[in-house]
Amino acid sequence: KTFTHTFDTPAFKGTATVNTGLFIGGKWVDPVDPASIDVINPATGKAIATISLASSKDIDIAVDVAKKAKIIKAYKTSWGLKAPGSVRAKLLNKLADLLEKHSDEFAALESLNTGKIFATAKADDVGGAISCIRYFAGWADKVQGRTIETNSTKLTYSRHEPYGVVGQIIPWNYPLMMLSWKISPALATGNAIVLKPSEVTPLTALRICDLVNEAGFPPGVLNIVNGFGPTVGQAIAVHPLIEKIAFTGSTLTGRKILKASAESNLKDVTLELGGKSPTIIFDDADVEQALKWASHGIFYNMGQSCTAGSRIFVQEGIYDTFLAKFSAIAKSVGSAAGDPFDEGTKHGPQVSSTQFDRVMAYIDSGKQEGATVHTGGEPGGGEGYFIQPTIITDVKPEMKVVQEEIFGPVAVLIKFKTEEEVIESANNTTFGLASHVFSENLGRALRVAHALEAGTAWVNLSQVPEVAVPFGGYKQSGIGREMGEYAVNTYTQVKGVHVNL
Ligand code: NAD
Repeated sequence: KTFTHTFDTPAFKGTATVNTGLFIGGKWVDPVDPASIDVINPATGKAIATISLASSKDIDIAVDVAKKAKIIKAYKTSWGLKAPGSVRAKLLNKLADLLEKHSDEFAALESLNTGKIFATAKADDVGGAISCIRYFAGWADKVQGRTIETNSTKLTYSRHEPYGVVGQIIPWNYPLMMLSWKISPALATGNAIVLKPSEVTPLTALRICDLVNEAGFPPGVLNIVNGFGPTVGQAIAVHPLIEKIAFTGSTLTGRKILKASAESNLKDVTLELGGKSPTIIFDDADVEQALKWASHGIFYNMGQSCTAGSRIFVQEGIYDTFLAKFSAIAKSVGSAAGDPFDEGTKHGPQVSSTQFDRVMAYIDSGKQEGATVHTGGEPGGGEGYFIQPTIITDVKPEMKVVQEEIFGPVAVLIKFKTEEEVIESANNTTFGLASHVFSENLGRALRVAHALEAGTAWVNLSQVPEVAVPFGGYKQSGIGREMGEYAVNTYTQVKGVHVNL
């Protein structure tokens, strides 16, 4: 079954046809136990399509197919250890080319399903996914072990081997980009995959399956199964034949995945989790640049970024000026809220009614705990799940709005005096995903970037990831690293080989 959506927007005119089934073994199949879910356009609150929902029975089938694709086909034909890496590189490059060819359609689907601004979805989400697939295509034939000198009667060396069947679970905030971060390194290194997209945003994940077939991947090396987290996600997490799981989502769910691994087959676990990242702006910063990046840091993607700079620390000498200008930017972004396909739109809706309620509840909690909602704080921008860019001031360190991940366009602004004080305050969190430091004094900027307990430090910049640079969390923001050469290690296990000469 398919559905076709016709786009007649200023940004894109055309159609997209998406298969609504489960993609298992290179074919579209129905769930064993028929079930479905409506996919909603968050800019209007209306349903776009009805999509199949899997159960744990479908995961058993998908894992079986993936295992066969990996083991039987892998050793005899074109996948896994026996296939030359150049074969996998070629397939991945073909996939990237196809995605590029259909980039307008993918951007339109992503925008429709998530409420992202179309132009941003095209440049960053689709463009980012294409770059990521190409980057890891480049690694496919460069996976290398080492010879290790022990003694002259032995040859000893290491090999990087694929895990076999890898389970992958992704969130709704960057559906296509997160999919590319997951599948590209895992396929480049010769694994077979069972991936579950977020049930809220499955459209681009489903559409890319057709391109996977068109590119010529062996059937079964990439299976995409839509379903709910507690059923299908959990079935992946406990599956005894899945050797590795890579998860991106909330810290709460990350704990469940780790527990499920511990209680099943001790599968290797990589977790990319939530954040409450600091943006620190010193008196000696280029204030105009800091304003530009700080607003990008929290309002980009309507604040639904794991690396969002949601706690903004501003040194006392520039605090008042910064707040006035930052508030003006927030209001201007808010006044350009609207249809994500319109050219002038700068601000879209939150992804779902659940997220809308969650963000509004945090704004209320801030008020109740005695903080001031300085700017925004109200819904507004359209009939969907729109919330105005919001700045909260007069906060205390223990408040929920300071400690918990809001995952919306809501920044707390905090005044500080000294470098030492701000490092301590910024590190006063259970999260450690990213940090952003603004100062024209490079020594200070780097000193602070190094002192912050976070897996990514951006200096005079905010939220611009690079596929070649490792990404992951300190503290409760994650375990393991993705991207760059680190992702090759994430998806391979190392064997030490000892040969008696
Ligand atoms: P979520 O944890 O609710 O869901 C993420 C995925 O896990 C979804 O596919 C969901 O269906 C699935 N899931 C839910 N319960 C599950 C369970 N019990 N077992 C297995 N799978 C389950 O998160 P979300 O609301 O979709 O996404 C927002 C969160 O993701 C935020 O906390 C954000 O910071 C985080 N995130 C992190 C990164 C990163 O790289 N660190 C990137 C993007 C988003």
